[in-house]
Amino acid sequence: MNIILLGPPGAGKGTQSERLVAEHGLVQLSTGDMLRKAIADGTELGLKAKAIMDAGELVADDIILGMIRERLQSPECAKGVILDGFPRTIAQAEGLDAMLAEMGLKIDHVIEIRVDEDALIKRIETRAAETGGARSDDNPEVLAKRLKVYHDNTAPILPYYREYGNMSFVDGMQSIETVASAIGEILGGQRN
Ligand code: ADP
Repeated sequence: MNIILLGPPGAGKGTQSERLVAEHGLVQLSTGDMLRKAIADGTELGLKAKAIMDAGELVADDIILGMIRERLQSPECAKGVILDGFPRTIAQAEGLDAMLAEMGLKIDHVIEIRVDEDALIKRIETRAAETGGARSDDNPEVLAKRLKVYHDNTAPILPYYREYGNMSFVDGMQSIETVASAIGEILGGQRN
């Protein structure tokens, strides 16, 4: 089973992905986590990505698509994946489709986590305080930029997936538990 979780920064995609990993044995593919690892490892990609991420902008589509391709091909992903933070642009969504067709795979569910923006700002402020500023992009200025980039570049892929079918949404303003059960209902009895 392959799932895409969509939603703005701070919507709870990462939190819900972790639960899906535990409950459904899926592998979480978070492009944000992959990029942060590249930064921590000091790779060439990491060096390039850091400035872009710190500015709240998007890393180039071909780099992102290359990272996803590499992971999708690995045997650990055979049971299925949760795409978290990807695709973020129409070009990434189209690139993903082409890649999946080539690999004989498909997306089973696209789930949008909807939240209101004031709540997002508060959530990210809380996350920044709790993690002691571990993420250099969790500050009010960069968050405003990330939200703008979400509206300009990522929200346009919602209609793309509505056409695609199997698109649902959950109300992300509810508790983590309630959001998790709403996602569970969408996935139905499918275990992997
Ligand atoms: P959040 O969803 O909280 O904004 P992420 O961890 O998904 O955080 O992403 C952090 C940053 O990493 C983004 O602001 C962007 O710079 C970069 N990034 C992550 N995923 C992508 C992607 N699919 N395409 C382009 N840039 C990305």
